[in-house]
Amino acid sequence: MFGECHAHLIMDGKNYKEAVARHKDGMADAPIRAGLAAWQEAGVTFVRDGGDAKGVSRRARELAAEYGIDYRTPVFAIHKRGHYGGIVGRSFDDWRDYRELVGEVKRQGGSFVKIMVSGIMDFGRFGALSEPGLEPEEIRVMIEIAHQAGFAVMVHANGADTVSAAVSAGADTVEHGNYLTDDVLRQLAGSETIWIPTLAPTGNLRGCGRFPEEAVEAIFQSQMENVGKALSLGAHVGLGSDAGAYLVPHGQGLLDEYAYMREAAGDEAVLQKAVGEAEARIKALF
Ligand SMILES: [Zn+2]
Repeated sequence: MFGECHAHLIMDGKNYKEAVARHKDGMADAPIRAGLAAWQEAGVTFVRDGGDAKGVSRRARELAAEYGIDYRTPVFAIHKRGHYGGIVGRSFDDWRDYRELVGEVKRQGGSFVKIMVSGIMDFGRFGALSEPGLEPEEIRVMIEIAHQAGFAVMVHANGADTVSAAVSAGADTVEHGNYLTDDVLRQLAGSETIWIPTLAPTGNLRGCGRFPEEAVEAIFQSQMENVGKALSLGAHVGLGSDAGAYLVPHGQGLLDEYAYMREAAGDEAVLQKAVGEAEARIKALF
């Protein structure tokens, strides 16, 4: 089985607030073990977490060997104050703060740096994000400082301009990347950046009634089409389901992601080669 290159063990795929509340009186091992056991059952032996604000992913890494899992975590994700990212990490105001946080990742034994540089999807409206992305220059400096500290960088980014800025700045992986244009897909294909398109959160929302079906379907289809194009252009594309997101359970989420990717790719051999190579690079870098 392929590895899970984007998960949040702190979330449970059902109710974010309840899942986080389980750790409010200190770290609770039971939900962490439940997630690890679900991956073990699905045959998953490599997991890259996207981080959380409570130390849950760090604890998961301590327990993971018992489940035969190689677990990587940034401990917490880093975002600019006033922008999206509070639910998975910590914020900075200026570059001194940012360097301080990168140093904190190092002190806490983080495997890599995770940064948030754009908003999240508005599933009610095709094309809409919760907020505009950071400035290209800010994205460049965030990536540069993390690289200088010796870390690979996982970048949460949606929207063509924001993703383009992250790729130009040498992001090691770009997560989600909804609404890419053909130009940015070509840019990706000409770069070393690995794209993790996380199809499962949107694909699994279809038919659940939480958001307008038409919008969800349009978002899903545009991302599927872009994954197909990226693979045919020879871009580096990896497998990560954003497990923990609503309706994306740990373990099963990766199986869902693979099924969507297979549909998007058309040719399963092409897909297997791409995600196998992406995973090997992620294991080596992160
Ligand atoms: Zn995530």
